Amino acid sequence: MTLHDEVDVSGLEPGPHADEPHEGGLNNRLNWLRAGVLGANDGIVSTAGIVMGVAGATSERSTILVAGVAGLAAGALSMAAGEYVSVSTQKDSELALLEKERRELRDEPEEELEELAGLYVDKGLTEELALQVAKQLTEHDALGAHAEAELGIDPDDITSPWNAALASMLAFTVGALLPLLTITLFSRELRVWVTVGSVTAALALTGWASARFGYGASRRAVIRNVAGGLFAMAVTYAIGAALGTHI
Ligand SMILES: [Zn+2]
Repeated sequence: MTLHDEVDVSGLEPGPHADEPHEGGLNNRLNWLRAGVLGANDGIVSTAGIVMGVAGATSERSTILVAGVAGLAAGALSMAAGEYVSVSTQKDSELALLEKERRELRDEPEEELEELAGLYVDKGLTEELALQVAKQLTEHDALGAHAEAELGIDPDDITSPWNAALASMLAFTVGALLPLLTITLFSRELRVWVTVGSVTAALALTGWASARFGYGASRRAVIRNVAGGLFAMAVTYAIGAALGTHI
């Protein structure tokens, strides 16, 4: 590419390129990824805790399996219910805000135009240009422009509570399957160590990934995440071992 190509923008189509997501889409996708990693992390830690606790009390494979499956189902459903409730609440408030905006646009369009132009002046445009921008955006999609500039909401992109519930249920299940499979598939001598090892590796991965999404220091995030999981497994194993011998 020559310098001339780089500065020549006359051939550019208006609007974002088809192959690069606009900012809202990218943020949204990152939010989903972040939620998925957190859900998987929850599934790993809580299921590892359950199966290690039972493995501390008994070496009977079917007992460990039943406890692990029950823990997986309970955790996945509780995650789904929690996510459904929280996203529903968010959706309700977003829809209420949009409805209020729609009413204002209908009842006092002049004030709304001034308000929108004012927001662009705050962002650094001259009053003249801001008014021009506000007018054109209002003609094109008044509600969309106000929702974005005032509320930071994309009216075409409201998260569905059902999608969010399903996604966190799946993420939890994927995470939970790891300790559940290692503790039930390996022999009595190996199962605890293989589970500790694989959970450590998986938690290092989810800790690293969530640090990457949050732009935090990844080494410390990995250590914290692995330490939390090891602590949970040690505590439940000790509880299981104590209860198993005394009851
Ligand atoms: Zn408005």
